[in-house]
Amino acid sequence: MDIQLWLQNTAQYLNKTWGLSPVFATRAALLIAYLYQYSLSPRITSGYRSPEYQQQLTARYNAGDKSIVVKPAENSKHTLTFNNEPASRAIDIVTSNPEVAAQIAKAVNVNAGYYFKTPDPVHFYI
Ligand SMILES: [Zn+2]
Repeated sequence: MDIQLWLQNTAQYLNKTWGLSPVFATRAALLIAYLYQYSLSPRITSGYRSPEYQQQLTARYNAGDKSIVVKPAENSKHTLTFNNEPASRAIDIVTSNPEVAAQIAKAVNVNAGYYFKTPDPVHFYI
């Protein structure tokens, strides 16, 4: 398939299915293309989250739920909206090598939670 078409289709999917903002969806599509290229087996686990869901995650984290690896942020880029539509500027992607994934993200102008003081190896954002 034509790469440009793949990127467009993927960006649309990230926007419609995962609630990413149009701008971030385009950049995240490029990131995902490279993650495949480097055989990092990318698997999306989270995009847009409603404020209610984000609060649930925080409550579960505070209650000691070990499946929530990193404390959910109070002002998360996962909960952003624009004109009442989901417009997340964050996506969580599990990969086989978070360090290489973070380096790739840097190269395509996407920030990586891998570099946080408390690393969040699946979190990518703008
Ligand atoms: Zn995240």
